[in-house]
Amino acid sequence: MNITIEPGASALLDALHRAGFAAYAVGGCVRDSLLGLAPHDWDLCTAARPEQVMELFGEKQCIPTGLQHGTVTVKRDGRLYEITTFRTEGSYSDGRHPDSVAFVPDVREDLARRDFTINAMAYSAEEGLCDPFGGQEDLARGVVRAVGEPLRRFEEDALRILRLYRFAARFGFVIDETTEAAAKQLAAHLDCVSVERIEEELNKLLSAPKPGAYLEPEVLAFVLPELPPDYLSEAREIIDALPAGGEEVTTRWAALLLPLGEDGTRKALKRLKCSNAVIDGVSTLVKEKAPRTPALSLQAKRLLGKYCLHTVRQLTALWSALRPERKDEFTALQKEAETLTAQSACCRVSQLAVNGRDLMAAGVAPGPGLRRALEALLEEVITGRLPNKKAELLAFAAKFSAA
Ligand code: ATP
Ligand code: MG
Repeated sequence: MNITIEPGASALLDALHRAGFAAYAVGGCVRDSLLGLAPHDWDLCTAARPEQVMELFGEKQCIPTGLQHGTVTVKRDGRLYEITTFRTEGSYSDGRHPDSVAFVPDVREDLARRDFTINAMAYSAEEGLCDPFGGQEDLARGVVRAVGEPLRRFEEDALRILRLYRFAARFGFVIDETTEAAAKQLAAHLDCVSVERIEEELNKLLSAPKPGAYLEPEVLAFVLPELPPDYLSEAREIIDALPAGGEEVTTRWAALLLPLGEDGTRKALKRLKCSNAVIDGVSTLVKEKAPRTPALSLQAKRLLGKYCLHTVRQLTALWSALRPERKDEFTALQKEAETLTAQSACCRVSQLAVNGRDLMAAGVAPGPGLRRALEALLEEVITGRLPNKKAELLAFAAKFSAA
C-alpha cells in the first residue's frame, strides 16, 4: 500500500529521519489518501520533542502553536505543516481536555489516543502503513469505529460524539454498533463542550453530501434542544434534497431550524455564537415564504428588490426541497432572477431612471412622501405599467405629487 506524500511534507519527514527521529504522516491525510481523496493538509507526527523540531527547522520557520501539547507548525514553501510529538494523554477530568500529556517514543501509543480507527493510521515511505487498530479495513468496509473502548473514549472527550457523526456523514459510512450505542448513551456529556466547537461540528455535519441519516435525534436533543423532536424526520429529507458543501450550509441550517420561525432561529444561532452574517443569512431564509402565485417575472423582481441573487438562489433551493412538487416552478423563478440580473432589470428604487433629487426638482416635497413616490414608481415599473424611462416616470410622479 503506497501513498504519495505531498512534496513539502515528504521533505520535512526526510529531514526528521536524517536527524534520527521516527516521523510519519498521520490522521486525516493518511485516511484521505487511502480513500483516493486529496488531503487538504498534511499533519506529521514524530518522536522528536517540540524543542528538537524547532531546532531542526530553525525558529524562523516555526510557529510554536501548541508547545505544551507537542505541536509545532512549520512553514515550508509557503505552506504550513503541523508536526506533533508522539504523545499519550493523562486523565480527562473536564470531559473535553486531557489534564496532562506525556511525550512517548512509540507512534503506536500516539495512535491509541486518536478518536476513530480511520483517523488512527500513520504512514512513512520507509515503513509503509502503521495501522494497529484496523483502520484500513474499516475504511474498506465503510465503518467509523472508536479506537479502544467507546464509552471510555467518549467520556474522555464528548466532542468525539459529534465527530463520529460528522466523519460518518462526510464519507457516507455506517457507524459501528457499539460505538454508536456509547455515543447515544453519553450524549448528555456534550454539555462539557463549548458552543463554538458544537457549532463548528454541526456546520461540518450539515455540509456533508447527505447528512439526513446522521442527524441523530438522541444526540441533537443535547446540542439543539430548541428543535421540536418530531420535526427531525421531516427535516432529514429536506436537508438531503438541498445542495451540499460548505457554501450551502446556510440553506441547510434554515431547513433544520424552520419550525423555530425567525425569532427562534435567531435565538438558537445566537446561543451557538454564530456570526451575525450567519444569523442574518439563515433567519432571512426561514422568514421568507414561497410565493403563492406563479407570476414569475414579478415574483423574481420582488425577491431581487429585497435580496441579492445569491440569497434568491438559496431561497429557491430551500423552497424546492420543502415543496418538491413545485420544484420546476422554483427553478424557473431562479432562472428568471438570473436573467433579470443579467439584464440589469429594475427591481429596486436605486435602479429607477429617476432619483429623489429628480422628483424634488419636479415638485415632490421631501420627506416620507418622497420615499412613497419612489416606491409607487418602482411598483409601476416592476408590474410593467410604466417603462423605466425618466420622462414617463417624471410625468407619473407629477400626478402622484399633485394627488
Ligand atoms: P479533517 O479533514 O476534517 O481536518 P482530520 O482527520 O484531519 O480531518 P482533525 O480534526 O484535523 O481531523 O484532527 C486531526 C487528527 O487528530 C484526527 O485525524 C485524529 O487522529 C486526531 N483527533 C482530532 N481531534 C481528536 C479528538 N477530539 N479526540 C481524539 N483524536 C482526535
Ligand atoms: Mg485536519
